[in-house]
Amino acid sequence: MTELLFNEDSYLKEAEAKVISVKDNIIKLNRTIFYPEGGGQPGDNGKLVLKDRVLNVIDTKKGEQENEILHYVEGNIDESIINQEVGLKIDWDRRYKLMRMHSSCHVLVSLVPALITGASVGIEKSRIDFDVDPSTLNKEEMNQRIREIVSEDHPIFINQISGDNYEEYKHLSKGAAVSPPVINNKIQIVQIGEDNNIIDAEFCSGTHCKSTKEIGPLEIGKIENKGKRNRRINIRFSS
Ligand SMILES: [Zn+2]
Repeated sequence: MTELLFNEDSYLKEAEAKVISVKDNIIKLNRTIFYPEGGGQPGDNGKLVLKDRVLNVIDTKKGEQENEILHYVEGNIDESIINQEVGLKIDWDRRYKLMRMHSSCHVLVSLVPALITGASVGIEKSRIDFDVDPSTLNKEEMNQRIREIVSEDHPIFINQISGDNYEEYKHLSKGAAVSPPVINNKIQIVQIGEDNNIIDAEFCSGTHCKSTKEIGPLEIGKIENKGKRNRRINIRFSS
């Protein structure tokens, strides 16, 4: 099992770990700051710094077991590095954009009273597919509300609930037919805003920034028609 340091602190850029297994170009560690692809967010890139060389991590994915994180490096590696200490460095510029972009997706979701049928978080823009009555979507109003939410600087934080209490919180799920990931019998809820001013609360195990102001200026791009009730809403950073 790998300790998921990005769950405790999504702002960790570097850490130390130990290599626990190597197979071809896949390395497992006892702890990691590399976020594995999931929930529409791409896996992290970065570097593993060993005693005598530096390995480029070109992708990070979940394994089959709970908490199993697979670091994909360039080229095949032999098992001699097992048990070695390794320095971890994620490509922070890329990850931080993904954190801001991922957080912006929650802002968008808060404005659309509909189920999500798909999502893809990118570095400059993202898209979310909704099962929605198109007549309820007003791009100008949504852009106005997005500007307000960003400038009001609402906190973004994680609440962890016990997996045993899932039924109680089930109503928060906006994903169509998707159950939230349960890790160590815990489920994460990401919340934007607090007290009487909660903007959004949704199951999510991705990485987010700490406040809506950190997301920066945003705007809705194209709203694409993907079927009678299926609309793909694009969101991107604006200047
Ligand atoms: Zn999220």
